Amino acid sequence: MITRFGKTFLFTVFALFLLGSLALLHPPSRTYVDTWTGDFFGEGGFIPPSPAQGVKGNVIMPKLGNATAKAELGRATWKLLHTMTLRFPEEPSQDERDALNNYFHLMSRLYPCGECAAEFQLLLKKFPPQTSSRRAAATWLCFLHNQVNARLGHEEFDCANLDATYDCGCGDEPLGSSTAGSPYDPMDLERDPSKDKKAQGLVKGGRAES
Ligand code: FAD
Repeated sequence: MITRFGKTFLFTVFALFLLGSLALLHPPSRTYVDTWTGDFFGEGGFIPPSPAQGVKGNVIMPKLGNATAKAELGRATWKLLHTMTLRFPEEPSQDERDALNNYFHLMSRLYPCGECAAEFQLLLKKFPPQTSSRRAAATWLCFLHNQVNARLGHEEFDCANLDATYDCGCGDEPLGSSTAGSPYDPMDLERDPSKDKKAQGLVKGGRAES
């Protein structure tokens, strides 16, 4: 015959055993977000953010029927893209490589000519962006542009002429070296408060007074 005390004791031991088993099955999570930095921490420490949302996906833009607008947009875009790859770092970091890769994938969604963007997406799938170096990125883009040229019946471009065609004459000066420490930084509105007014007008959509 078990006494009342014995029953209570056994019940308590059983309850503790049950709680212990549950805790083992679902160990308490110690994840939290640092409210100051916004960083996410888990059991193993800092958890890096997952790749940016929205980089890959379907074309967002509508069809651009007008052939003249399409050609003008194309010429301007190719100029931007080739100049960009030819100024990309010679030895990019992983972050810089991701940035370039994401840029092309985002462009394939947001390029304002929807039908061109759809074709561009197919090309990116077949020939993913090469980002290991400036040369790799520039040559890859030249090749890709030639794929578009071929589809449109345009002449093939000789990629050996890349540097000569897109030399902006601007060199490779590190960011900020031309204006750092200069008392005449044109972007520094704080130094010359009169420029603030002009900038405010522009932000509101007005024209700057001359
Ligand atoms: P472009 O092809 O615009 O080239 C401009 C200049 O770049 C040339 O004059 C030449 O100096 C140089 N160049 C040419 N080939 C290369 C190369 N391989 N590498 C480096 N430089 C080169 N148009 C459509 O009608 N349908 C489409 O589906 C379409 N898709 C496009 C997709 C993208 C991503 C882009 C950027 C443009 C697309 N276009 C499309 C526009 C098209 O590629 C051309 O820009 C447009 O037809 C004008 O052609 P263009 O002969 O003036 O020279």
